Amino acid sequence: MREAAPGVTEVARGVFVARGTHVNFILLVEGSDVTLIDAGWHGDADTVERSVAAVGRRIEDVRAILLTHAHLDHVGGAAVLHDRHDIPILTHPAELGHARGEWRESAGPIDVALRAYKPTTVRWATAIVRAGALTHVAVPDAEAFPDSGRPLDLPGRPVPVTCFGHTTGHTAFHLPELGVVATGDALVTGHPLSGKKTPQLLPEFFAHDPEQADAALDGLAALDADIIAPGHGAPLRVELSRAVATARA
Ligand SMILES: [Zn+2]
Repeated sequence: MREAAPGVTEVARGVFVARGTHVNFILLVEGSDVTLIDAGWHGDADTVERSVAAVGRRIEDVRAILLTHAHLDHVGGAAVLHDRHDIPILTHPAELGHARGEWRESAGPIDVALRAYKPTTVRWATAIVRAGALTHVAVPDAEAFPDSGRPLDLPGRPVPVTCFGHTTGHTAFHLPELGVVATGDALVTGHPLSGKKTPQLLPEFFAHDPEQADAALDGLAALDADIIAPGHGAPLRVELSRAVATARA
């Protein structure tokens, strides 16, 4: 792993994990083209644009934004970049209605702050509110990618791996040749509310269906991969099967 720019880590050749406001997004660079996986909060859009420049590409080179899921900390920046640059937004068919704003599945930051009142929680809630946590975001023209188990025809050739539960259609993306998995929020390596920096599930109240989210870890454990590019926390080199065992312990 290599620090390519402040807040941008190259975890494998052409795969960059970049930091927004307490959330990550991923850049897959292939030739001159880029796929983004997630794009931070509404207020992180400029950070996403800077990270594209930091890896030597232009925002016009971004072919699509893939969503792991449509929570505001992953879709907010995508909506802004879609409006600014007409970048297509793609998500799993089961997540499409969520992305389009037909329903919502998030624990709001105020709920969270009330449930887990601590100074760190308040600092986190303040930062995310500033980044757009109270701005409702929907992307009415989000589209579905084909759920065929095959690589998507996009830079980096990511393979969707469904891990439903955190949201109805949450999906991770596997890069088999590089041994990388962009796990989204199905498996993270840290969060301001947990204080731990090991593979873990997010606190249950963030999950639409916590039992299903736990079961979905089986699919991640079965992947041939040893690098986690998570939605929250630092990227981590660890066998996925071991990471899942740690998260469940
Ligand atoms: Zn998240």
